[in-house]
Order: sequence, then structure tokens, then C-alpha cells
Amino acid sequence: MEMTGYEWYGELVTGTNQPDNHSPTHSYERQQSNGKWYTEGNIDKFMAQLIEKDAWYARRENRQQITTEAGMIARLSEGKALRFGDDWYAQIRITPPPLPPTPEPEWIECDCGHSVPIGTRMTTSTGTSCPDCYDRMSD
Ligand SMILES: [Zn+2]
Repeated sequence: MEMTGYEWYGELVTGTNQPDNHSPTHSYERQQSNGKWYTEGNIDKFMAQLIEKDAWYARRENRQQITTEAGMIARLSEGKALRFGDDWYAQIRITPPPLPPTPEPEWIECDCGHSVPIGTRMTTSTGTSCPDCYDRMSD
């Protein structure tokens, strides 16, 4: 019989898909018994389960027990997965920490009509220009 619930099969890891109200930069993903990862919107229930189970899992991982939601989030933010299910013998998954967002270069429109990354805009006698239009605009 295939288990379709996820109460007994699961890990939580941080992802970067969507913010939620527990963290402005992380989303929480839960692995179901089919192995796929889903963004978890209602984290409260799983946080409670994580805390309840961690007395057990912490001993198995030879680390100090985490007893608060903040501690769990800190652990998850390190890229560690935490189990709240009973399949404790499975390997604890470690995921890379979320990457910081790559800043988009800021673009600015020049008087020549072209847009260039800010910092490469040039100033000419007739206004601002992109590098390609610099000679023409300087006349
Ligand atoms: Zn131009």
C-alpha cells in the first residue's frame, strides 16, 4: 500500500522559492513519500513536530537538542535538513545554503535613447549617451 500522507515521511529544508512569514528570504520545502519536494505554506504544524521529535534525532546526530522554532529555523538556514518523521534511519539530507540573490545591474536610459547599465552612461556636450553614441553626441 502506498502511503500518501506525509506525516511519517518528511524532511524540511530551506529553499528560495517564496518568502513566508517565518523568514523573509526562505521558503520551506517538504519531501513527501514519492521523493518530491513541495513548498510548505503552513509550517507551524511541522515546526511543532520537529521540536517534538528532535529529542530523539538530536541524540542520533550527536548534537544538542533543538527546542525552539527559532533554533529549528537557524538549523535549516545552515542548509541542514531536519526530520520529523519516523524513518530516522534514512540519511539526513544536507542541502546547500540558499544562495544570495544576484543583484541585477541597474539600467538607465540615456538622452541618445539607448539604455545602458548604470555606470557606463557617458556625458557629452549634448546630453548623456551610451558608449556607442558617444562620438555622435559629442559633435
Ligand atoms: Zn546610444
